[in-house]
Amino acid sequence: MDKTYLFQSWKKRGVIGNYDELYEYYHLINNCEKCDVLLNNSQQLTKKCLDHDHSTGLFRKVLCWECNINDQDRQGCKVRKDNTSGIKNISYQPKTDSWCFRRQVNKKTVRKYFKSKIDAICYKYVLLLKIKSRILY
Ligand SMILES: [Zn+2]
Repeated sequence: MDKTYLFQSWKKRGVIGNYDELYEYYHLINNCEKCDVLLNNSQQLTKKCLDHDHSTGLFRKVLCWECNINDQDRQGCKVRKDNTSGIKNISYQPKTDSWCFRRQVNKKTVRKYFKSKIDAICYKYVLLLKIKSRILY
């Protein structure tokens, strides 16, 4: 990935530190430092991400996209104790062997069901991105 573009995205996300040093480290890491998956920027779930502490801005680890997203969930808001996916608002439904994404719309709970966890995660984050872009632009 282009270094200038990468530095801009780190800056935008509030990462603090010596970017050249960070880049050297970031560049060296080939596997997610949490789940050890081989990082591959051509696929969304295994994309290389720089994980940083959202309150201090300091670098923590190089993670795959999925681990990074899961971490953000844990930082931002509490995951329910009965959650079975590790991801906020997504849970496994053993009875129907499906994954449920649950959200609040006008104080009502809306549930959407998916065959796989990945489908549920993708739906959630596409939705979040849409909401976020509505707020920003
Ligand atoms: Zn990972």
